[in-house]
Amino acid sequence: MGLTVDGARRFVELAAEAMEAHREYLTELDSAIGDADHGINMSRGFKKALEKVSGGSYQDIGGVFKDVAMALMGSVGGASGPLYGTLFMKMSMKLAGKREATLAELSEAMAEGVRGIVALGKAEKGEKTMLDALYPALEALSSGSDEASALEGAVSAAEEGMKSTIPMLAKKGRASYLGERSVGHQDPGATSAYLLLSCLKEAVVA
Ligand code: ADP
Ligand code: MG
Ligand code: MG
Repeated sequence: MGLTVDGARRFVELAAEAMEAHREYLTELDSAIGDADHGINMSRGFKKALEKVSGGSYQDIGGVFKDVAMALMGSVGGASGPLYGTLFMKMSMKLAGKREATLAELSEAMAEGVRGIVALGKAEKGEKTMLDALYPALEALSSGSDEASALEGAVSAAEEGMKSTIPMLAKKGRASYLGERSVGHQDPGATSAYLLLSCLKEAVVA
């Protein structure tokens, strides 16, 4: 089980579709605790990523993710652009030269990407950010009785993690300006992180 170069391209297509389909929803979530642009940011970023990746020819998964990173960094002004840009840039470095990545390699690359998000954004677990979906997903990815259930478990864990942000007090990003008023709302970035994990699951081949 793992990801191929074509699978990585498929992931970008799926992500662009998902961000477009959930544009209003993500923006609505961001209107409660932010500046109402997360859906706009994510759909714009992944549209650019898809344009870039559709036009390119790739020898390795790293190349695909590097172009995703560049597109996100270059087109998303908000906090999520550099943060997701870093995730994909770090993943691309781990997956450079690979035409196929096993689930274990993919999980290692994701771990590196998440460390990149932490290095840049300095957020910790429980501070109501995308990390609250990404950390549990990573943990689930390296457990599970077999690869298929580990992958399935990662998506469920991301969903649980996304929901777990509802009662959290935001400590990072724009939502933190609201203090106690951030409680009771689902974090937009944790929601997009869950959506991205669902897309990754669909793009992985048995
Ligand atoms: P902006 O807040 O600049 O408008 P977006 O709305 O696109 O950017 O993204 C907001 C999301 O970014 C939040 O919901 C949160 O998940 C994530 N985020 C913000 N700051 C951080 C941080 N320091 N570390 C990790 N994630 C963060
Ligand atoms: Mg915003
Ligand atoms: Mg903004």
